[in-house]
Amino acid sequence: MKIKKMEAGLYCLHCQEEVDHEITYINSQIKSIRCMQCNKTKELNIDVKKEFYKEIVERIATKPTRMTEEYRKDLSHLLFSLPFRAIKKPYRLLKDVNSSRKVIRYYTKKKGIEK
Ligand SMILES: [Zn+2]
Repeated sequence: MKIKKMEAGLYCLHCQEEVDHEITYINSQIKSIRCMQCNKTKELNIDVKKEFYKEIVERIATKPTRMTEEYRKDLSHLLFSLPFRAIKKPYRLLKDVNSSRKVIRYYTKKKGIEK
């Protein structure tokens, strides 16, 4: 799970003109849109935890298919590449889990202050 920021020219209702906005994404979902001129921010409701679980489930769910396809393609190649995969996959997954935790913590903390 990653936070991405993007700038885009959008029409601001407050400024009543097209100005630069900062768009914050979580994965491919828009989390917030901020007018860079008047600072007015529109927060969109994303279930951060749901996003995170969806991502994990998708990743795990697509794994067996990939394995089977590769198995059909070239058995010897699979046998050679298997030890590398066994090390790389859990590591990559773990790294994403860590960054996702940071995102969840950030937004949970922010909500706590507001209320
Ligand atoms: Zn504005």
